[in-house]
Amino acid sequence: MNDLNPAGWRPAMSADQDESAAVKTFTGNRALHLEEPLLFEIGAADRCGVDFDETPDLPDTLGAFGRKAPLDLPGLSEPEAVRHYTRLSRQNYAIDLGLFPLGSCTMKHNPRLDEKVARMPGFADVHPLQPQQTVQGALKVINELAHWLIALTGMHGVAMTPKAGAHGELCGLLCIRAALEARGDAREVILVPESAHGTNPATAAFAGYRVENIPATEDGRVDVAALTARLGPDVAGVMITNPNTCGLFERDLKTIADAVHAVGGYVYCDGANFNAIVGRVRPGDLGVDAMHINLHKTFSTPHGGGGPGSGPVVLSEALAPYGPLPFTARQADGSVRLVEEEDAPGIHPEGFGRMCAFHGQMGMFTRALAYILSHGADGLRQVSGDAVLNANYVLRRLEDVLDAPFGASGPCMHEALFSDDGFAEGFSTLDLAKGLIDEGFHPMTVYFPLVVHGSMLVEPTETESKAGLDQFIGAMRSLADRAREGDPLLKTAPHLAPRRRLDETLAARKPKLVWKD
Ligand SMILES: *Cc1c(COP(=O)(O)O)cnc(C)c1O
Repeated sequence: MNDLNPAGWRPAMSADQDESAAVKTFTGNRALHLEEPLLFEIGAADRCGVDFDETPDLPDTLGAFGRKAPLDLPGLSEPEAVRHYTRLSRQNYAIDLGLFPLGSCTMKHNPRLDEKVARMPGFADVHPLQPQQTVQGALKVINELAHWLIALTGMHGVAMTPKAGAHGELCGLLCIRAALEARGDAREVILVPESAHGTNPATAAFAGYRVENIPATEDGRVDVAALTARLGPDVAGVMITNPNTCGLFERDLKTIADAVHAVGGYVYCDGANFNAIVGRVRPGDLGVDAMHINLHKTFSTPHGGGGPGSGPVVLSEALAPYGPLPFTARQADGSVRLVEEEDAPGIHPEGFGRMCAFHGQMGMFTRALAYILSHGADGLRQVSGDAVLNANYVLRRLEDVLDAPFGASGPCMHEALFSDDGFAEGFSTLDLAKGLIDEGFHPMTVYFPLVVHGSMLVEPTETESKAGLDQFIGAMRSLADRAREGDPLLKTAPHLAPRRRLDETLAARKPKLVWKD
């Protein structure tokens, strides 16, 4: 505690701890950023931000509900509360501030047009229990988006209700299970290659399947020989991420799909990275039976911080009858109906019901359709072209200073993958990632995918300009040099962030959820 700190709270980083920063302050404040205490430290239970004339007399009948002890929540004035949250928000990084290279997350610019459309009262203020004739516009948006998704993927049907990518995976596996059970063929195993996204094995296990791992080849793709050797009557299906988490296209998907179908199984494709292939590849042509699309990645929606999302699942002719309720259907008179009855035409009696209570994420549907219509088919094709071009530019501009494990096997898709091979003894991917914070960028995805040692997965996305990429590449080249030379200052980065290097797991393993004086 020091005298310069009238509020009496202690900055988490004091001057003496910050041994390596060039300029020290005694308060923890730095460059127009004040160190921010907890609400409990600046407020007090006996203070209040509002002036009441007097405590109103409650009628006796309410006495039983009266509070017995004070709530002990901190009271603050309005400016104190506003500043607290505004200051905290300035410690955050956001896609509106700069490039957000998180691989597998597709953190791209969200067009303001889409945001405006999503906020239109006719879409934003409707209630899911409104009579259908009063929400025809909203239902038409869902229906039109469904048709675009089917057309872009070359599939037969689509389940619009799943609320995120992983929820879509669960929906797809429940469709596969329903289809197998309908033919009296309960199978136990889902095959998941090493290059799949981590949610795939988690989903398969959650859906009650036994997960078996299929190895990757030297060039980062599914080992087709190993996969086909494992196929048999106990295999319900495979889950393949395409493009996979090494940022590579699974060229053998059609061969794999034919082999899986030949033994009576189904092919689930993780299509979260559809932005890399939209307008160029139709998964339906590759034999896929079910695939989720992360609307919040490919078709824009701010999704940092865990939400909101939307993961519609496109389905093949074989699986479409098992899709969940409800779904939209255009009527002869041009209106759109939300079909909710389990015995509706086209629904298989073995269908599994619903994924969620209502029709899905309306805010994401409006954004996605606005995105699709404003880009048009040619614009969507350019999205995937630019996403892949940008990733390959990053890959080729960094591969002389960073090891690119699959760089020699040809171009990547929308993500560039690097490893820590060549760093000085004792230096790791974590050091480079923390250094990136000092350089003004959010770190890339680290230590994922697992198939590569110390992996760094960079997804620049299609919305970055060449100038923006060059700025990032400059920072990365400098950090790569420092990691290879073993610059000790990199080991203790970040130096310029509001906090220094934090314990990576403590907050998750032992969260402090209650404030105690
Ligand atoms: C993001 C992602 C997921 C999970 O999507 P959520 O919406 O976060 O549930 C699954 N697979 C891949 C390949 C992804 O990139």
